[in-house]
Parts: sequence; C-alpha cells; structure tokens
Amino acid sequence: MYWNPEVECAPREEIERRQFESLRGLVANLYDNNPFYRGKMDGHGVKPGDIRCLEDISKLPFMYKDDLRDNYPTKLFTVPTTDIVRYHVSSGTTGKPTLVGYTREDLEYWTESLARALTSVGITDEDTIQVSYGYGLFTGGLGLHYGAERVGASVLPSSTGSTERQLELMVDLGVTAIACTPSYLIHMIEVAGKMGIDFRRDTKLRIAVLGAEPWTDAMRKIIEESAGIRAYDIFGTSEMAGPMFTECGEQDGIHLSWDMVYPEIIDPETGEVLGPGEEGELVVTMLKKEALPMVRFRLRDVTAIIEGPCKCGRTSPRIRRITGRTDDMLIVRGINVFPSQVEHALLQVPELTGHYQITVDRIGALDVMKVEAEIDPDAFSDKMEDLMSIKKRAEGIMKKYLNIGVRIELREHGSLPRYEGKGSRVKDMRSMK
Ligand code: ADP
Ligand code: ZN
Repeated sequence: MYWNPEVECAPREEIERRQFESLRGLVANLYDNNPFYRGKMDGHGVKPGDIRCLEDISKLPFMYKDDLRDNYPTKLFTVPTTDIVRYHVSSGTTGKPTLVGYTREDLEYWTESLARALTSVGITDEDTIQVSYGYGLFTGGLGLHYGAERVGASVLPSSTGSTERQLELMVDLGVTAIACTPSYLIHMIEVAGKMGIDFRRDTKLRIAVLGAEPWTDAMRKIIEESAGIRAYDIFGTSEMAGPMFTECGEQDGIHLSWDMVYPEIIDPETGEVLGPGEEGELVVTMLKKEALPMVRFRLRDVTAIIEGPCKCGRTSPRIRRITGRTDDMLIVRGINVFPSQVEHALLQVPELTGHYQITVDRIGALDVMKVEAEIDPDAFSDKMEDLMSIKKRAEGIMKKYLNIGVRIELREHGSLPRYEGKGSRVKDMRSMK
C-alpha cells in the first residue's frame, strides 16, 4: 500500500531531474536572498551557476550544528517570524539544544512524509495508534500525531510517562500500533509483565514504529518476539523537520522521500562524497523547507546508501539503519566502537536482556570498557558456575565482534536504569577526568 504512489514509485530519471530542479532553485534563492548562505558560498568560491547537475552539490559548503547554535534563536530563519506557525527544540543530545521553526507549508510536507511512512509500515485508517513519544518541544510526539491523523488512524496522544495508565488504555482501546523510542517500548513490555498484561495475549498491538535513538536488529528481534508485533525503524532529526522516514514492510533500509531530501554519504574526516554501500556520515539537503533551509547539513549519523530497487516497489533512495553518531563513537585502545555494536554483540547471548549500560574508563594508561547487563529472570540461577558461564560466553562474543576485551558484569533483573525517551547507555569517564 502506498500513500502517494506517483511520487513514491516515480521513475529514476524523473527523480533525478526533479531533484536537480529543486536544488538549482533552492541554491539560487538562498544566494540571492539570504546573507548567511551567500556569505558561506562566497567564502567557498561557489556561485549558483556552478551547480549544473545534481553531483555538483558537492561544490557547496557544509552546514554544521554549530551554525544553528551560533545563529540561535532565529537568525537562520529565511521567513519573517509572522510566517512561523510552530517551533520545536532538538533534544540536545550533543550540546545546547537548537531551535527550529516551521511555516504552514513546512508542516504540510512533514505530515505528508509521515503519512507515506506510516502507510508503508501498514498503518491505515483502521488502526488505533498510541503516540508515546514526548509531546512538547521534542518533535516526536506532535510529528507522529499529525502524520497518524493524516492517514485517518485513531490517535491516542499519550506522550511519555504514566506507563501503567498507558498500558491500561492500550488494552481497553485495543490499540494496534505504537510510536515511541525502542528504550521506552522495552520498558513498557516489562511493566506490562508486572501488571499481568501479556502483549501477545491481552493487547491487539501489531506494529511499533520506533526511533529517535540507535537500536539494532538484535533488539528488534527481542521486541518483536516478546510483544508479538512487527517493529519498524523511523528516522529523522529536528533539522530535517523531525521523525520523517521509516522502513517499509521489507524492513530493509529506511526510505527517504526523494522530493523532500537529497542525501549524501561523506567520509567524516575528509568530507569526500562516498559511493553507494560505503559507510560514512549522512549529509542532507532539504529540498522543500521554507523557514529553515538546510543545505548539505552534516547530521553526524553514520549509515550508507543502499543501492538498487526495493522489493516494495518504491524507488526512493534508502539508507541503512543508523549505526550511531560520529560523536558517540568510542575509541577504546585505538579501536572504534559504536554502542550499537556492543548492543548487537550482547544480545547474541540469550540469557541477557535489552537492559545494559556501557562504561569506559582509563586506568593508568589503559582504556577499560565495562558492560553491565541484566540477566533474564527466567535464566537467573543462584549457581555461581551458571553465572560464570554466561559471563564468559558474553565476554567471548564481545571479543569476537569488537576486537577488544570487555569486562561483563551481570546484574539482577530490574537493577539498571529504564528510559521513557531516548536512552543514555554510555558513560565515558575519560571525558570527565
Ligand atoms: P539531538 O541531535 O539533540 O538528539 P533530535 O531530537 O533532532 O536532536 O534527534 C535527532 C537525532 O536522533 C539524529 O541525528 C540521530 O542521531 C538520532 N536518531 C533519530 N532517529 C534515529 C534512528 N531511527 N536510529 C538512530 N538514531 C536516530
Ligand atoms: Zn521498500
């Protein structure tokens, strides 16, 4: 099922032609009307006339999160504030939060993009969707809310928190879909267990749309099996509008609406554009945004473009699920480690759950990495030998996947923190010293 088949399944040549037209118009307009972009382009020695094909986008300078911070709150806006109909603020995961603004048309595109995305995971006007992302300054709640209303689903705007009440409502209303962070859904499943609610038996939930933080296929498997649902990844950032794009039914990469965004993957060190399949930093140019345009904005999220058509019939470009952010990458004894790799390795051990915390410290001259992991209560044993064997196995798997020694500390079920929004599972003590 497609929401907008003409766009979602457009022929490749048409996509490229129309993307180029949008890009050319965007660059000319910004150069003529906006001192920030004109200054940036002049500083880089590039004029709108130099953009003669899509690939010429690489001649344009990058934009960084700091450009938004330095021009806080509204200096980068290209419309008068009277044309702004909504503001949001980024979560501030990597520093001071940034402010974003939307015109009516901007909200319209965001909602259209979510209508396409929710349709592609199988949500229709017959679904009841619980939006358990934070409502308010964070983009997740309101974004998903309007997207779900657009497809005609019945929306339960529950936001985060009051988990027991949310679960009661889920059962009473026969909620069929939920949107939240993966961290929050595993927390909900656990609280449900304590309340005697079994997701498979007592709820009608069939689809989860999960994002706002990195999560792995191993975590997906745990969620899908314990809740008896299909779980899809959703991606977006406040600079793009908010959560916007999801996987389709194939669960094989996130489809990006080509009429709204032009993605590039670059080498984060050199800035050089990489080819399909090569992993690097995602850079986006938003082709339709009015209030706060984004040209070659460096997201710092690490992924790759997937080449070739998707089995679902959509022709829009796809990216692999996000491995992590360049700024979350840990360098431990000279080896690069993303928290998602730790998660992936850890969850190969069936006795461990999705609850874990990573700590990196420096003792003397040596980096040490510790992973605390909760044991599944069903696998819990008082026997020291059993626990030692789980620990050994987990450490062996870590070594194999990460190429460094990691100390595993087993923890009792329920002893590590739980998260209602984005999880925060990494503590790097080295940066605090
Ligand atoms: P902040 O950058 O302050 O966290 P946002 O609230 O805009 O601001 O969050 C966007 C960021 O969240 C993305 O850049 C990305 O790092 C992360 N993110 C969002 N969705 C996903 C996802 N599905 N997988 C991995 N990371 C995600
Ligand atoms: Zn697809």
